[in-house]
Amino acid sequence: MSALTKTEILNLLQDLIRIPSVNPVLAPTEGHNEVKIAEFAVEWLQRHHVHAEIEYVKPGRPNVYAEVGDGDGPTLCLCAHLDTVGTDGMEIDPFEPTVEGNRVYGRGSCDMKAGAAAIMSTAAILAAEGTVKGKVILALVCDEEYASIGADHFVKQHKADACILTEPSDLKMVVAHRGFLWGKITTIGRSAHGARWDIGESAITKMGSVIVGLDRLDKEVLRERTHPLVGPASMHVSLVTGGIGVSTYAPECQIQIERRTLPNESIDEIKKEIEQVVQAAAEGSKIEWFFRRDPLLCDENELIMQHVSNAYQSVVGTEVEKVGWEVWTDAAVFHEAGIPTLNIGATGFGLHEPVEWVDFDSVMKNTDILVQSARTFLKDPSFNK
Ligand SMILES: [Zn+2]
Repeated sequence: MSALTKTEILNLLQDLIRIPSVNPVLAPTEGHNEVKIAEFAVEWLQRHHVHAEIEYVKPGRPNVYAEVGDGDGPTLCLCAHLDTVGTDGMEIDPFEPTVEGNRVYGRGSCDMKAGAAAIMSTAAILAAEGTVKGKVILALVCDEEYASIGADHFVKQHKADACILTEPSDLKMVVAHRGFLWGKITTIGRSAHGARWDIGESAITKMGSVIVGLDRLDKEVLRERTHPLVGPASMHVSLVTGGIGVSTYAPECQIQIERRTLPNESIDEIKKEIEQVVQAAAEGSKIEWFFRRDPLLCDENELIMQHVSNAYQSVVGTEVEKVGWEVWTDAAVFHEAGIPTLNIGATGFGLHEPVEWVDFDSVMKNTDILVQSARTFLKDPSFNK
């Protein structure tokens, strides 16, 4: 890595941490600066001869798009989010990064300004080499910590042949993770005066049977259904409301449930399975599916996996460890858009916690792996066929 020194990359990471970019939906009293950090990223990239611009997802919520290369060949996308979670309860100065040995402390140091610094540095290094056939594009997105409107918007605007995310992963290659499905279930009772046991029917009691049925499905069936990389499927009842007064039979009860899904499950089958349990417990109940995010699975034969594996081997000297995650990430948004996607990011500690730090050595290695992956991926002979 020639074009940028270690100090320049460390300075970049520290500058990113110094600009608060707390997600404004998660922490409305803190978060206002996704625009400032996006403007900083554009300015830094342009200064390093990388074309960069802001793309507004909606007012005050910007993505940064950047590109380097001649466009004559494949496109590799590198993605990191610029927003962070809030700072409530933090035990370190969140926005004045301190460096102790290899560690850089601050809110977002690990999740994931380190990843943003790595992809920005990669673009700058490739721009300085000046020989990029094809294109490396950067997606520096907003709102990953809440609803991922940034990634959703980005994949509608831009195409790519592969994508690498840099969420902190201890330099392990994340090739799969679970998705999720949210549903609302409503049971209907017969409202009546609390004394009228003869006609009253409690929707809450009916929901009791539904909850017991769903719990049995979770513990007895779903726990047996596992994927080698991400573990078992699961579900839980997360919210409950119902009833109108202590002396009235409850006319309605509602729960919200979350089902965590595996890479090889069919969403229709998942819905059918839950609907059967609900109807068996309380016939006539209503089910509404209102939000879903798909799982991630990067196929073993994908070119990007081979190139990142080779790059890792050359930088670290050992074979990269392939893992699955239980949590959902923006990687699935790119995967859903038909772009083969995996994640490899830095080592650190304290994501969303009172003390957060990233190991700067791993940020340097991450950058090196990205640069080498980009160099070889863009030259892969299969794109000339
Ligand atoms: Zn993150």
